[in-house]
Amino acid sequence: MPKPSLSKDEVKAMLLQVADRIIEAEPMLSEADRNLGDGDHGLGMARGMNAVKEKLAGEVESIEKAFANTGMAMMSSMGGASGAIFGTLWRNGGKALAGRDTFDAQGLADLIKAGLEGVMTRGGAKPGDKTMIDALHPASVKAQEVVSLPLNEAIIAVAAAAADGKEASKAMIATMGRAKTLGEQSIGHPDAGACSVVVIFDTMRDYICA
Ligand code: ADP
Ligand code: MG
Repeated sequence: MPKPSLSKDEVKAMLLQVADRIIEAEPMLSEADRNLGDGDHGLGMARGMNAVKEKLAGEVESIEKAFANTGMAMMSSMGGASGAIFGTLWRNGGKALAGRDTFDAQGLADLIKAGLEGVMTRGGAKPGDKTMIDALHPASVKAQEVVSLPLNEAIIAVAAAAADGKEASKAMIATMGRAKTLGEQSIGHPDAGACSVVVIFDTMRDYICA
């Protein structure tokens, strides 16, 4: 049944599904990073998501903690740029949901906005630099537009915006991270972190709409 909002236990179940789908996507994410970077993105994300599965194994205290603990587990288990970047996304996004006892379309918009701000502050990249921000920023803009919809409708629009952003990243020239040394040779490939963002939102959509 499509879910117009989620309880804390459903948020936990959704995050565990995200972890499994990222782990399954490891070869695709590593291949994307091989084209532009050092080829370790999938392995790093999979390591982080195994830590998330351990961290979320017990009772979750709140919606805030389910997301924030996901971020903390990634930060403490992953190396590379993406441990800090994806850890900050979930941790800062989760903190924005303090005190909420349901996760709805407003919560989705607040999660993404706070996560995006955290990532931009921490990493210094902006839209157009060919990073995961190029999938996350359009998702954030769309999420703000659909706050009054049921969560199951909002997440469809948000996941589509992230996928469009990833596609658009193909045409960009990398100016941040390892790929910046490639210059114009980075054109034609999507950013690896943007591919991870798409897996994350697609899995959230599939859980919320199932
Ligand atoms: P590393 O670059 O250390 O090998 P990963 O391969 O795990 O780390 O992750 C690379 C991804 O991290 C890139 O595809 C990009 O999306 C993201 N990234 C790198 N630097 C930044 C940054 N400053 N801001 C946002 N995202 C970044
Ligand atoms: Mg890498």
